[in-house]
Amino acid sequence: MVDLHIHTSFSPDSNIAPERACRAAYARELKIIGFADHVEFLPADGAYVDLYDGAKILAEIERLRERYRDKLEILYGAEVGFIPGKESQIKDFLDSQPLDYAVGSVHYVDGVLVSKWVRERELAGKDFAPYFEIVLEAAESGLFQILGHLDYIRKYLFAPQKYIREGYEGMVDRILEAAAREGLVIELNTSGWRHATGEPYPDEGILKRFAELGGGLTGGVTDVTVGSDAHKDYEVGYAAGQARDLLRRAGFGSVEVFRARRRSSLPL
Ligand SMILES: [Zn+2]
Ligand SMILES: [Zn+2]
Repeated sequence: MVDLHIHTSFSPDSNIAPERACRAAYARELKIIGFADHVEFLPADGAYVDLYDGAKILAEIERLRERYRDKLEILYGAEVGFIPGKESQIKDFLDSQPLDYAVGSVHYVDGVLVSKWVRERELAGKDFAPYFEIVLEAAESGLFQILGHLDYIRKYLFAPQKYIREGYEGMVDRILEAAAREGLVIELNTSGWRHATGEPYPDEGILKRFAELGGGLTGGVTDVTVGSDAHKDYEVGYAAGQARDLLRRAGFGSVEVFRARRRSSLPL
């Protein structure tokens, strides 16, 4: 199995030493992992792009590739926070880094962290459509290889069981269609299984819908990958078996990985 969404201590909110991440992944019999440390485009964020030291991360990855040769493949990814209006800055960053892949994720809405924004909207009885609008822009931007945790606003809801997916189906469909059209891989982010919501991001219904969109309907490709969003070493490879079962149920036969932004499929 693979885990393309691991935050190491190069992310301000993780303390997993890169080597510990490799050790945990190897112990869990993962074959391919990817470090996807945070890169953000708002100066107030601790992962602001100016603070990002890609050369240092890559040097550590190269050292670990040597150490784990024949045991574990380690990819150089980044989780890039998408912000409308920052596309050219994001593109410059992506062009400047020899990344294997970039995960595009929405962490801010109108300059407010999604965690805070969701709670404010929930308290005010407002809907979450603006979040999905930005995810759609991220999907259409052509900047990324992978779309991260599509519906993870559920993570921050005080009452996730009251989240009504139906209200956003049209919007989610547009995101999935854009992904299929652009050849953008949707991430099954397993972290939801360790949160109150109890389901991955996106949930099974959305992944099934994505599988249905493959081929005829859009003429596009519908591919997926798996990431744990680990910020602690025991989260590396989290629920990989459950992810495989869910993806098979949803109609997928493989997961995607990227090397130098070129994709290849691994059978599930
Ligand atoms: Zn994220
Ligand atoms: Zn993440």
